[in-house]
Amino acid sequence: MSNPLARTSVAIIVAEQTALSLPLFQILKDNGYSVEWLESPELILSVLEDKTPDFVFLDHTMVDMDIGEYSQRIYDEPSSPYTRILSIGYCPDEATMIRMFDKGISEHIDCKTSATELTNRISNIIKAYNDEMRINHMAYHDALTGLPNRLLLIDRIEHAVSRAERQNKKVALLLLDLDQFKLVNDTLGHEVGDELIAEVALRLKGQVGGLDTVARIGGDEFIILLESIDSPADAAVKALGINEILTVPFNINGDELHVTASIGIALSPNDGKSIGRLMKHADTAMYKAKESGRNRFCFYQVSMAEHISDRLSLSNDLYQALKNDEFVVYYQPQVEAATGYITGMEALVRWQHPDRGLVSPAAFLPLAEENGLIVSISDSVLEKSCQQMSEWRSKGISVPHIAVNISTKHFYNIDLVARVKELLKKCGLKGSDITLEITETTAMNSPEEIIPILNELKSLGVGLAIDDFGTGHSSLAYLKRFPIDTLKIDRAFVMDLATDTDDEKIVIGILSLGKVFSMKVVAEGVETLEQATLLLNHNCKVIQGYLFSRPVDATHMGKLLKAGRLLPEQTQTKSNIFRMGVVN
Ligand code: C2E
Ligand code: CA
Ligand code: CA
Repeated sequence: MSNPLARTSVAIIVAEQTALSLPLFQILKDNGYSVEWLESPELILSVLEDKTPDFVFLDHTMVDMDIGEYSQRIYDEPSSPYTRILSIGYCPDEATMIRMFDKGISEHIDCKTSATELTNRISNIIKAYNDEMRINHMAYHDALTGLPNRLLLIDRIEHAVSRAERQNKKVALLLLDLDQFKLVNDTLGHEVGDELIAEVALRLKGQVGGLDTVARIGGDEFIILLESIDSPADAAVKALGINEILTVPFNINGDELHVTASIGIALSPNDGKSIGRLMKHADTAMYKAKESGRNRFCFYQVSMAEHISDRLSLSNDLYQALKNDEFVVYYQPQVEAATGYITGMEALVRWQHPDRGLVSPAAFLPLAEENGLIVSISDSVLEKSCQQMSEWRSKGISVPHIAVNISTKHFYNIDLVARVKELLKKCGLKGSDITLEITETTAMNSPEEIIPILNELKSLGVGLAIDDFGTGHSSLAYLKRFPIDTLKIDRAFVMDLATDTDDEKIVIGILSLGKVFSMKVVAEGVETLEQATLLLNHNCKVIQGYLFSRPVDATHMGKLLKAGRLLPEQTQTKSNIFRMGVVN
């Protein structure tokens, strides 16, 4: 891909004598330069406002002109760190030469030479400069987007902070991270991901002013450095503008992609003057923006730091926990509503923490989902469930199927089919002994990718359930194509079943959908006899919830399995369920 941010080369000649500067002007033009010819040195600074010259040729003999002073001012311009300043004219005396080199003039071009020699000399200078620039560009820019990379950014921040200090202004660092970008890579492939990143870079570049820097510092992370701002409000306006321009969908290979970003803002001097602190604080604020619902910006606040260090230590603890095998599997029975017979169970992970005791998945799975540990955790749950099943069976306990939850990442990060085959073989199980639960959102996000995998699992006999059904955006067209055998009605609809007629309608709808597509329906989160009775009246045959049993450890589950049949834990005797003979 060509560098979208490439620009034309610019040279400035500051000279009065045309005899001296005309050949130079022509040579530069012939080399593709856009040349500004100034008659007076004071004009340089106004040109620098909207142009970054590669070369400035100064006539050292110009009256009243202190070359050194101008070269210093050019070098002070933030936009011209690579500008090469050369002096031109007839040979200056030794003292002037020393003074010029001291002030940053890189070389002197003697114009007394022949036209051929001059052309040669200038061509060599341009070539050397271009070679150096190319190497510099590679070292300081990101290959994909052409944006400054971390190295160059650090340099710019350093300069910006000290300049702002002198001018009594502020610098803002906006750390931008695309929301759920990994999903794009996972589902549409890295090439699409790369193109999207390049497009985002272009939009960001278009959104920030000439003085400000947009850098790419990692996969989907960018930093926007705003120089010389007066107040936090300036940074907020910029961040709002960025969120806004990203709302226009991206068209990548004919696909319309919607992208949002979370932005964390740190300001110098208030949030720190060192690069390390500013970057760290912007990062903290960015995480806060993610946690608050993404697609927004957030300023750094001191109180955030504690929270982040909690997250970090939790992240480390999770790795440790996996190594120490601290994840245990609890099982929650699924029960035939009319009889209380156990028809299956769901495996639910818990973390047996050495200090904190039993930790619920809600406290660590979101982070595990983010850092990818979810795959290893769910995999260990799958393995333990299979081993447990064969252990129960070897003791003569009859066990119907076990349902295991798998996350989106499972479909992309490991060969799920091969792993399931391996475990079934190792534990002497049939495919139909296990069911895999995928959430509705997982299924609907990338149906084309996962349908073939589901079909392969299906051909092994493995049961497939859609979890939390009703909370996502299922498309009926896809539902028909999914080889799914079970729909699980989300707890949210069961909860108010008795009081909310809308929820009741949804439940009835899901049940008839199940009937049309010949799928089993399991209602989750059934806590009361009233809910169970209503479900039964609507012909929902299998229920799971605290009413019959909370998730319990393997030993306890073994006992329940031996009994084979459960009683509701509540004893409100008036319920239908009793008349139907569930409880003796
Ligand atoms: P889920 O798959 O929807 O699992 C059902 C959740 O509802 C479980 O929460 C269960 O304990 C809870 N529950 C069951 N009956 C009742 C009830 O009557 N009332 C109430 N209030 N809650 C009930 P848990 O165990 O905290 O798990 C939460 C979620 O974490 C699960 O939701 C599942 O999405 C995820 N999860 C759990 N274990 C695993 C795992 O091994 N792998 C993956 N990928 N996700 C898991
Ligand atoms: Ca589940
Ligand atoms: Ca569920």
